[in-house]
Amino acid sequence: MTDCIFCKMAQGIIKPDVVFETDRILAFRDIHPQAKVHVLVIPKVHIPTLDDFPQDQPELAAELLGAVQEVARREGLASGGYRTVINCRSDGGQEVYHLHLHVMGGRRMAWPPG
Ligand code: 5GP
Ligand code: ZN
Repeated sequence: MTDCIFCKMAQGIIKPDVVFETDRILAFRDIHPQAKVHVLVIPKVHIPTLDDFPQDQPELAAELLGAVQEVARREGLASGGYRTVINCRSDGGQEVYHLHLHVMGGRRMAWPPG
């Protein structure tokens, strides 16, 4: 996916502000943070949306959730809590079509979201 900005980050072509990285996952700071801490967790492989997630790769789903936990620990959010969001396609408000988990914290989150 040569035109995908998150693929370019995963491949090291564009260098985001990285918080955590493994061979299959990258976590980096959102360019327009919506909270004191706002990190995006992505699989390095191109998966467009949550709805496209491959059901035959449950270990990748576990790694993504593990990366969320690790980001929360590193950013000091684990004990106080945080918000994790996956926007899916247009009604979900997705703008970048490479699967990503938002990890937001450092302030009290409102519910329901808009
Ligand atoms: P979505 O609406 O697709 O769930 O969220 C996309 C997120 O990616 C937004 O929060 C937006 O600020 C972030 N974003 C878009 N382009 C860039 C970029 O070039 N660098 C970084 N670090 N974040 C980006
Ligand atoms: Zn991509």
